[in-house]
Amino acid sequence: MDTTSTPAHGVRAIIFGRQGAGKGTQCQMLGAHFGVPHISTGDMLRAAVRQDSPLGRAVKAVLDAGGLVDDEMMVSLVQGRIGQDDARTAGYVLDGFPRTVGQARSLDEMTVSRPINVVIDLEVGRDVVLARLSARRTCGQCGANFVATGAEAEPWTCARCGGSVGQRADDTPEAIGRRLDLYDSQTAPLIDYYRGGSRLVVVDGVGTPEEVFGRLCRAVEGALGG
Ligand code: ADP
Repeated sequence: MDTTSTPAHGVRAIIFGRQGAGKGTQCQMLGAHFGVPHISTGDMLRAAVRQDSPLGRAVKAVLDAGGLVDDEMMVSLVQGRIGQDDARTAGYVLDGFPRTVGQARSLDEMTVSRPINVVIDLEVGRDVVLARLSARRTCGQCGANFVATGAEAEPWTCARCGGSVGQRADDTPEAIGRRLDLYDSQTAPLIDYYRGGSRLVVVDGVGTPEEVFGRLCRAVEGALGG
């Protein structure tokens, strides 16, 4: 099941964090900084829904309700992506995967020859992320995130790509509650899974995006022994 074969080098990182912890933005910046692809399973699934592909049709209702897509589907999606040339040669920042212990075990199997070398928990409390998520608005086309002040007419036009900016279907109070509960029940136990192998670094996710990014870069460099 091993998808990797070239010599070990580069950043192969997993970033954990509650919904609204700023993970997507920070992972994008980390990918650009370390020259590796940012692989977001949420972005991949939303793109599949937009394209109305067979995968998109199979997962749309689960996504909208804030549920979890089944492990088998997720494992094959990620295995395919990290086996592509850019990720095989340079490495990757994984955002949104693994999300269950079953996914973590599969990831260990598919990276035996080039294991994950950075695991970070971006720590932000549940009360803080609840406030952030209810104000979050997202471009349906490019995925950029914005903060609503309440004064804007919605949807508005994305300043980056001209797409339509509104609330994500799973950023409603019910779906947010469900996602945060699933994080606590399914994903938080993974933090112990990785802590066991002393592979985990906890980073404080409260602060300006620049402050948090600085902490994350130091954590990655520290984990790589640089
Ligand atoms: P968030 O972390 O804000 O919920 P993501 O963009 O990471 O958002 O993911 C959006 C949705 O995609 C999730 O709520 C879930 O339905 C699905 N999803 C993403 N990654 C996974 C995964 N590894 N396993 C199962 N479902 C996933």
